[in-house]
Amino acid sequence: MTGNAIAGHSKSECFCADGQEVEKPVEGDEEAPMVIDKWRLEKFQSPIELNHDDTIHHDHFEPLEFHGHWDEGGEATFTNNGFTATLRFENRELPVLVGGPLHEDQFIFEQLHFHWSNDDHSGCEHIFKGQAFSMEAHAVHFNKKYGSFNDAKEKHDGLAVVAFFLKATDDDEHPCFNKLATAVQEIVKINTTTKVPSDCLTWIKEEAQCKGYYTYQGSLTTEPYFESVTWILYPTPIHVNRKQVSAFRSLNSTPCEQHNITKNTRPIQTPPEHRKLDVIYARSHKKSE
Ligand SMILES: [Zn+2]
Repeated sequence: MTGNAIAGHSKSECFCADGQEVEKPVEGDEEAPMVIDKWRLEKFQSPIELNHDDTIHHDHFEPLEFHGHWDEGGEATFTNNGFTATLRFENRELPVLVGGPLHEDQFIFEQLHFHWSNDDHSGCEHIFKGQAFSMEAHAVHFNKKYGSFNDAKEKHDGLAVVAFFLKATDDDEHPCFNKLATAVQEIVKINTTTKVPSDCLTWIKEEAQCKGYYTYQGSLTTEPYFESVTWILYPTPIHVNRKQVSAFRSLNSTPCEQHNITKNTRPIQTPPEHRKLDVIYARSHKKSE
């Protein structure tokens, strides 16, 4: 997994058709391809705390492309496995993630799950600019060249996880998110599954089309913590209603129905002192599809 293929264009080729302000390229941007070569090979434990000022700015990434994530068709199921609520697609062509930091590879959608906590201020796993949000959604994808999630999960380039923050507010319920938030009430018991509308991911569409995201090489945040994940984190939280978040806390974590999943986050992991973790703030001159 080396080479300059994801380095994108040189600065002189860049143009910003929409006239938006271009983030000032930081020192070292021209050397970014070299940084990325090394960056792709070194993995760290996740989650981490992200600070924008400490990131390597790379303004000319190819856009990250989501194919099929919001399409209707086939079936979607939502399951309480005792640790989280997991969405899967069946009987349809699975969504595909390409571009951005993913080199030439295609990553196939495996599942989307959530992390939350017993309050609205600590349910995310990654911390962004010292701020925590109410929930974090992880869209897990595996590298197509390995054929399946199980065969990909231990490979250093095996997985790509796209993370979205959710913020509980007093605003109205998020209508698109309600396709999942209401379904939670049907999977309160552990190991139960319900069907949800196949276009149940439209609530992430707007944020996923945003031009800037953070990416680093990390790990699963659940056992066995394989260091196989290219993380892609969108920084702007999606606003949902407090009730929509609290619904997830009613999910049982045990068959006896005495205990609920009230907190399923892993604490922040600090990189070893002798190793530097490079987080890239990736922007593109064009929008994702
Ligand atoms: Zn997760």
